Amino acid sequence: MAGIYIHIPFCKQKCYYCNFYSVASIKNKDRFLEVLKKEIYHQRKYLKNEIVNTIYFGGGTPSMFSKNEIEDVYAELIKHFNIGDSVEVTVEVNPDDLNKKKLDEFKSSVINRLSIGVQSFFDEDLHYLNRIHDSKQAINSIRWALDSGFSNLSIDLIYGIPTLSLENWKKNLELFFELNIPHLSSYALTIEPKTPLKHLIEKKKISAINEKDLVAHFDLLLELTEMNDFIHYEISNFSKKDYYSKHNSLYWLGRNYLGLGPSAHSFNGLSRQWNISNLTQYLKHTNSKSIIQEREVLTAAQKYNEYVMTSIRTLWGCDLEHINNVFGKTFRNHCLKASQKHILSKQLLLTKNVLYLTSSGKIFADGITADLFINS
Ligand code: SF4
Repeated sequence: MAGIYIHIPFCKQKCYYCNFYSVASIKNKDRFLEVLKKEIYHQRKYLKNEIVNTIYFGGGTPSMFSKNEIEDVYAELIKHFNIGDSVEVTVEVNPDDLNKKKLDEFKSSVINRLSIGVQSFFDEDLHYLNRIHDSKQAINSIRWALDSGFSNLSIDLIYGIPTLSLENWKKNLELFFELNIPHLSSYALTIEPKTPLKHLIEKKKISAINEKDLVAHFDLLLELTEMNDFIHYEISNFSKKDYYSKHNSLYWLGRNYLGLGPSAHSFNGLSRQWNISNLTQYLKHTNSKSIIQEREVLTAAQKYNEYVMTSIRTLWGCDLEHINNVFGKTFRNHCLKASQKHILSKQLLLTKNVLYLTSSGKIFADGITADLFINS
């Protein structure tokens, strides 16, 4: 099982919190598609003919592309990769790009899963985040997607936004349940370096994030998703049975993937590589001029750290037996020793040689993971 990620580096405007690579202009779209096809050809051997079970158009804003443009890219992938019969083809979409006609077209194409960037159903939160859509567009886009027949549907919601009261966060979640969507990705608002959000908060131009509110939002998220029979299968992801994201699961299970487009990352089990985060440079890609910015062969410690970081955040947990078999006894013993204080404080649970985050440990996932790492 392998996957392909395609980074579409265009957005209509930059959201304040975003640190993904994209440009707020579509003027190089056609040239980008030409170069992307060239890159698909050049990377055709990367996955060594493994079956591709998931293709993910992320960004940026892939919904700025038409059905034909997405199918054009897909046709190129089919030519050069071993695409599985039940491949999941996900497209990230933004509410302001959607209407019933476009969603009907998407539904009649190869796309069989949508991930809608809702973030909040309240205009004041969307305004704080500098999202381009409003709450009405968010609700309409979901209803249209469901009407068009997209049953494999996910939305993103952000919590911890300073303008979002606990009461409104509850309303956001209740509306999500009411709309009968089988998958939710829900992230804490974080202040990433070099983002407008960081700058505006530092200059006191907008309110700062309150950690206590953020924790209260997270607790409510866990409580309500459980009450509504959602499986909390990864720290930020909740799903009805059989609706796990195939693509994200691939990252968490350490499978191979190829990333295409500016800033996209690839992993083949031995090394990691990533493309330049610069559209102008990317567009200069030719047969002789590579767009790979860097490639690093992973050390045993790096591979162990990656396994710990991804597995501990999931429902399947961090398996000490797996660590023993793949990395050796020293790594296993380190992990067990480093986890002791978190087991004692009931933030980790050790059952049948597998470590799991407890409900009270989930909010501290990043810190706990760092404690289990080995310096590489
Ligand atoms: S639309 Fe998505 S990728 Fe574009 S700026 Fe906003 S969060 Fe970032």
